[in-house]
Amino acid sequence: MAHLFSLSSFLLSITICFFARSQVLVFVNGQTDNLTQRSPIPINYDLYHSSSSLLEEIKALVHRHPDKLTMETMQAGNKGYNAELTVVTYCQGRGESDERSKFRILLSFGQHGRELITSELALRILSILSEEQFLPSMDRASLNSTLDKLVIKVVPMENLNGRKLVEAGDLCERRNGRGVDLNRNWSVDWGKKEKDYDPYEENPGTAPFSEPETQIMRKLALSFDPHVWVNVHSGMEALFMPYDHKNTTPDGLPLQRMKLLLEEVNHLHCQKRCMIGSGGGSVGYLAHGTATDYMYDIARVPMAFTFEIYGDGTASSKDCFQMFNPTDLSHYNRVLNDWSASFFTIFKLAPYQLGELPSKASDKWVSIDEYLDGYLMERRNRYGKKMEVLELGMQEIRTYFRLFLLSSVLLLFMFCSRISKSKCTRPIVSAMPL
Ligand SMILES: [Zn+2]
Repeated sequence: MAHLFSLSSFLLSITICFFARSQVLVFVNGQTDNLTQRSPIPINYDLYHSSSSLLEEIKALVHRHPDKLTMETMQAGNKGYNAELTVVTYCQGRGESDERSKFRILLSFGQHGRELITSELALRILSILSEEQFLPSMDRASLNSTLDKLVIKVVPMENLNGRKLVEAGDLCERRNGRGVDLNRNWSVDWGKKEKDYDPYEENPGTAPFSEPETQIMRKLALSFDPHVWVNVHSGMEALFMPYDHKNTTPDGLPLQRMKLLLEEVNHLHCQKRCMIGSGGGSVGYLAHGTATDYMYDIARVPMAFTFEIYGDGTASSKDCFQMFNPTDLSHYNRVLNDWSASFFTIFKLAPYQLGELPSKASDKWVSIDEYLDGYLMERRNRYGKKMEVLELGMQEIRTYFRLFLLSSVLLLFMFCSRISKSKCTRPIVSAMPL
């Protein structure tokens, strides 16, 4: 009975971050929440950085290690709403040309405002990469030879505006600064609503990529072209692979290589507690328009994951800080130690997992549709108002573009065949002795 009870409690609580709504937990322990009189547990600033102090600390870290770390700020905005993302790049012997020849990893933290622990993990990983902190059982020589072959881009706080709302007292806020869930604003199966859709939690925005934060992330992903993507969240402990919008995983080799890597991480660092599977399939609840589905399906990132690094299913539904973040020092340290170790395992193993596969370049063709989607989306955001017209015009433009390409190819073919004809005749003429 006790087991049944804890199992059902667990199943209910696992829906929190990725899919979910805070109200669920009101009934988690078979009782209504009797803590309504008490004010929720506030952010523990003895353990956690504020958003500004965390970004300042990262800036100082980058400044101390110019040989390994660089930092850039990316900005976008529309309709009076602006977003700014800090991106830190780790690369030994930096250089743009060097980046393309190395194995590329893109990590994002803090996509949901209330999941503060994820950004703390970003800082910890960057500190270890810069060798200011160390993992307990890390062989530095072998780690350095691994890291030498990698470029790692870290977005420590994807949703800075949402995070500021959390710091201002709205501890349950997961959406961005204007109420859009950044993990529902991507184009794969965007906008589909399940029966128990809750706009407070899952508002997908007015269109795919309507949000500046998502636009920046897409731009970053398409230009960096990573081999591995990890979207880091909290609310439960899980290692998800695609898909989020349907109850299946990819199959064949892509499934095998992702699954093997996740099983290794689960075994080494999660004491096999972590749930592994597709985001949509594992909890029987689908999420539409997620970043990881886009990264896998459209950006063609061969290994695309969502990690859920911590959750307290016993916390009151009012206590979002406690639900999504460890509240005491020992838990805080355990989460950061275990999960930073997980990421270094991924840094080490992922290049080998992909080593046997055809090179990424060979299957990396952005379709015309995708290119135009990206182009039009940027135009759309720049000129805000003409959205519907653009939507209708998109199909036609695609058709014209295809026709244009087709006729160009035909013309080129005709031109070449004429040249080759004249080339064929020339030797006969020139072969004639004078
Ligand atoms: Zn989340």
